[in-house]
Amino acid sequence: MARVYNFSAGPSMLPEAVLTKAAAEMLDYEGSGQSVMEMSHRSKVYQSIIDTAEALLREIMNIPDNYKVLFLQGGASSQFAMVPMNLMTGSGKADYIITGQWAKKAYKEAARYGNARVVASSEDKTFSYIPKVAKADLDPEADYVHICMNNTIYGTVYHDLPDTGDVPLVADISSCVLSKPIDVSKFGILYAGAQKNMAPSGVTVVIIREDLIGKAMDITPTMFNYQTHADNGSMFNTPPCYTIYVMKLVLEWIKNEVGGLEQMQAINEKKAKMLYDFLDNSKLFKGTVVPEDRSLMNVPFVTGNEELDAKFVKESTAAGFVNLKGHRSVGGMRASIYNAMPVEGVEKLIAFMQKFEEENT
Ligand SMILES: *Cc1c(COP(=O)(O)O)cnc(C)c1O
Repeated sequence: MARVYNFSAGPSMLPEAVLTKAAAEMLDYEGSGQSVMEMSHRSKVYQSIIDTAEALLREIMNIPDNYKVLFLQGGASSQFAMVPMNLMTGSGKADYIITGQWAKKAYKEAARYGNARVVASSEDKTFSYIPKVAKADLDPEADYVHICMNNTIYGTVYHDLPDTGDVPLVADISSCVLSKPIDVSKFGILYAGAQKNMAPSGVTVVIIREDLIGKAMDITPTMFNYQTHADNGSMFNTPPCYTIYVMKLVLEWIKNEVGGLEQMQAINEKKAKMLYDFLDNSKLFKGTVVPEDRSLMNVPFVTGNEELDAKFVKESTAAGFVNLKGHRSVGGMRASIYNAMPVEGVEKLIAFMQKFEEENT
């Protein structure tokens, strides 16, 4: 069996230990005589899986008791509508900071439901930095401020959060969830699609402060109302059962094998530092993001020559480093080095880049 190093921005690698465990439990989950794929979501055995997943997430992320954890479907993209439908009902205004395509999509969707305003944008420089926003730039009457914390396509991340005062901060954390500790109490809502750092695609985790539930617009579809899912333990309808089970395995891996989010952060910082140090010293490759806003998870880079970029993508793929082609809006390459990418995968990628550099300069 030859497994490749998959640098995809998502869906992405899962820890090998998780895949092995899921395979071992495939036909008979803990003596139930069935696969988790087959069992009733109303069964005792499944209830224990979803309860364990939630308890582990609460423990690992240190989620305060006044927050609900919801397991939803529809991807992070559905949250672009769910957030305004549920929250934009006070002043009907919301502030958006545009740091990439996902943030922009969130803004455009919100503008369909209320008075969404762009506070700042880094589009002028292909989203290669995080714009500075002062408290005075924000509307104190807004129902919330929305940010995309880690910008998957462009490789930027918020190292410091904007000060929004009493206005709830809502963040899309799809591509940085579980990569390091985060102070949940600073946010009104955190949401993340699973397929970057948590599980296969199919479940979207929403962490929401309880006082923000129950204010939805009248037009809100039942399935888009946070209240519906909060009142029913994410079991109003059939949840994405198997994906939640794999998420439980990933959370067990973080807790027991890695040792928690501080350790996860140390490993992620080690991987990212190796790669950025190499890029900063390379005569051929260079990173596209300003150093102070660089992401731990997504590392875009270019040679400055499109033909060489294409050659690199082709040769790296053949050597077992797959999905390194950058997003079309940035060009070049992007290495997504999520939690499940082993240190060894980054070391080997750097050795390959070194060799490519020697052969092509
Ligand atoms: C991948 C991604 C999305 C889109 O997620 P879906 O689950 O496919 O809707 C949204 N935001 C960010 C930051 C992402 O990385």
